Amino acid sequence: MTIETPKSVRELSLFEDARKRLDKALKYVSMSEDALRRLKYPKASLSVSIPVRMDNGSLKIFQGYRVRYDDTRGPGKGGVRYHPNVSIDEVQSLAFWMTFKCALLNLPFGGAKGGITLNPKELSRQELERLSRGYIDAIADFIGPNVDILAPDVYTNATIMGWMMDQYSIIKRQVSPAVVTGKPLMMGGSQGRNSATAMGAFYAINTILPQFEQIPQQTTVAVQGFGNVGAILAELLAQAGYKVVAVSDSQGGLYAPQGLDIPSIRQYKNENRGMKAVYCKDTVCDIVEHKIISNKELLALDVDILIPAALENQITAANAPDIKAKYIFEVANGPITSAADEILEGQGVRVFPDILINAGGVTVSYFEWVQNRSGLYWTEAEVNQRLEQKMVEETEQTWRIAQNTGASMRTAAYIHALNRLGEALDAKGTRD
Ligand code: GLU
Repeated sequence: MTIETPKSVRELSLFEDARKRLDKALKYVSMSEDALRRLKYPKASLSVSIPVRMDNGSLKIFQGYRVRYDDTRGPGKGGVRYHPNVSIDEVQSLAFWMTFKCALLNLPFGGAKGGITLNPKELSRQELERLSRGYIDAIADFIGPNVDILAPDVYTNATIMGWMMDQYSIIKRQVSPAVVTGKPLMMGGSQGRNSATAMGAFYAINTILPQFEQIPQQTTVAVQGFGNVGAILAELLAQAGYKVVAVSDSQGGLYAPQGLDIPSIRQYKNENRGMKAVYCKDTVCDIVEHKIISNKELLALDVDILIPAALENQITAANAPDIKAKYIFEVANGPITSAADEILEGQGVRVFPDILINAGGVTVSYFEWVQNRSGLYWTEAEVNQRLEQKMVEETEQTWRIAQNTGASMRTAAYIHALNRLGEALDAKGTRD
C-alpha cells in the first residue's frame, strides 16, 4: 500500500527523510489506509512573530513555531527548541518523531514540538525571559494541559519552562502547572526530570548490550554533545565502568584513549561556558592528558559505542563510511539520515534509534504531568524506578520485534509505535 506524499510537505526535506522510516515499517504492520493517510500530515502548525523589547531599547522580532503533529492518543507533547537553525521543517520533523516516541513508550500523548529561531547565547537573561513570555502570549490558544504540553529541548531549560508556565497561568487566570513539564521543582517540576533523558538512555543501553555480551569495563564510548543530556549520560556511563574516551560540544572535542575524567570536564564547562575553556587549561587542570579533536574526528573514532547527543543530520551519506563504532545509540533526535542508515547497515553497525533511546525525557515529563494533575508528588527513587521499568519493557519489546521480523531496531521501533497508533486512529474513526 502506498500513499502519495502530500504536496504541501513536498519541499520539507528533513521531514521527508524522517517519514522514510515510516515507509520502511509499513510493510510489517496491518494498518488501514485511512490511518496511514492521516499520519502523513501534521494536524496543525502555527507560525508566530514575537516582538521583544531588547535591553538597549530597540524592538526585535523573532520567528516562532508550534506544530501539533497528532493527538489521537492524547494531547500533543513535545519540547521547545531555541536555536539559530530552527525552521518549520525542523519543528515539524521533531513533532513527527514525538508522535512515534510517545506511542512507542505507550504514553497517553500525541506528538508536538515548538521552536524559536535565535542564538540564545546572544540574549541577556531579561531578554530571554521577555522572549519566552512573548512566545506563550503568541501560542496560548494553541496549547493547554489537555491540548498540547510543552517541555525543554535544545538550549531551553527549567528556568525557561517556569517563565512559560507562569505566563500561561497569567493569561488563563489560573495556576496551570500541567501545561509545561520540565519546570523548576518549586513550581511543580518532577524529581528526576533533569537527568531523565540521560537516565533513560542509560537504562536502554544496559538492556541492549548484554544481548551482545558486551561488558561495560571493556567498552569504549564517544559522546558527541555535552549539553544536559550528553554530559549526564557520559558521567553515568563512566560511573558504571564504561571507558568514555571522547566528548565534544559545538566548539570541538577531547580525546583520551585511557578514558576522560567526566566530572572535571563538566565542572570546567559549567564554569567557563564551553569546551574551549577545558582546552586552555589542559596542562594545568586535573583532567587526564588529552588530545583536542574536531566533531568530525570524534564521529570517526574507533570506539565500541558512539553516542550522537547533539543535533540532527550529524551522520550523513558523506561521513557514514568513516564510522568505525560497533553500536550507535541515538540520544539526539534525528542524528542519522536515512541514506546513512543504509550505509551503516551495510557496514554491520548496529543503530539504536532516537525514538527509543532518548524517550526517558518525555517519559518523566508524563510523570510530571500526572503528578501536577493528581497533586501528589513522588520521590526521585520512585521516578527513576518507574522510568527504568518503562525503558526496559519497551526496549525489550522492540528488541523482540527486531528478532522476530529480522528488521533493524529502528524499523522495529516504528513497527511497535505504528501498531499502537494505527489501532488508536482506527478506533477513533473518521467523520466523513
Ligand atoms: N525535548 C525532549 C524530546 O525530544 C522531551 C520532550 C518532552 O518532555 O515533552 O524528547
